[in-house]
Amino acid sequence: MKFCSLYSGSSGNSLFISCYGTSLLVDAGKNGKQIEKQLFEVGEDPHDLNGILITHEHSDHIAGAGVLSRRYHIPVYANFNTWEEIGDKIGKIAPENRIIFENRIPFTLGEMQCLAFKTSHDAADSVGFSLTDGHHRICIATDTGFVTDDLRENLPGSDLIYLESNHDIGMLETGSYPFYLKQRIKGARGHLSNDDAAAFAAELVRYGTDKLTLAHLSSENNLPMLAHQTAVRVFSENGIVPGKDVSLEVAPRSAPGQIHLL
Ligand SMILES: [Zn+2]
Ligand SMILES: [Zn+2]
Repeated sequence: MKFCSLYSGSSGNSLFISCYGTSLLVDAGKNGKQIEKQLFEVGEDPHDLNGILITHEHSDHIAGAGVLSRRYHIPVYANFNTWEEIGDKIGKIAPENRIIFENRIPFTLGEMQCLAFKTSHDAADSVGFSLTDGHHRICIATDTGFVTDDLRENLPGSDLIYLESNHDIGMLETGSYPFYLKQRIKGARGHLSNDDAAAFAAELVRYGTDKLTLAHLSSENNLPMLAHQTAVRVFSENGIVPGKDVSLEVAPRSAPGQIHLL
């Protein structure tokens, strides 16, 4: 499997995954041109995409999905409630490219076996994904206010996990966001803090995950170094050595991340 983050954070999210000639994006939250540019940069061609999986309907996850689907005739996958909320926000999608999956029921996309699990977020029916080629498994879990039972059930044992580490609590509390927005972010249907991500990540490493990408960082309430340091601190409290037990990466906001080959 090949995995690479293309964009990550509240200004847009998209990541590329392929196995045995099946290529897909999880989310397409930048405009079509921006996503094409980043795909070329990591050696991929948008013509080869076999699908776009959508986690939820917020614009930082769907902005370019319609354009790409129309331009390259790519099927877009989302659950029913998310499609209802997407409505005409991404323009017209050809009926044959409008695919509905059900949460918690495995489906195949070419050679990729996919499963959507529930996250806790202020969207209609937000999900993360577990993707496998039958040998290796990659999980995507962003936009969740807390570590849900579904996350606990699906993430352990994955080879690579792309996990939200959205904000530093101190920066959020002392920052300039209005009260209601701070409450929203901290709430059960908001975003995962650095501390919560690091604690869960330490558990996951103990279950065998050896590649961890911290993702969807807030531009206002976090710093890549802070997310990284928090994870390193919690790891060391748990006897985990980054670089030896786990490779730790912070997904860049607007440049491709590391290319991982599993
Ligand atoms: Zn988001
Ligand atoms: Zn969101």
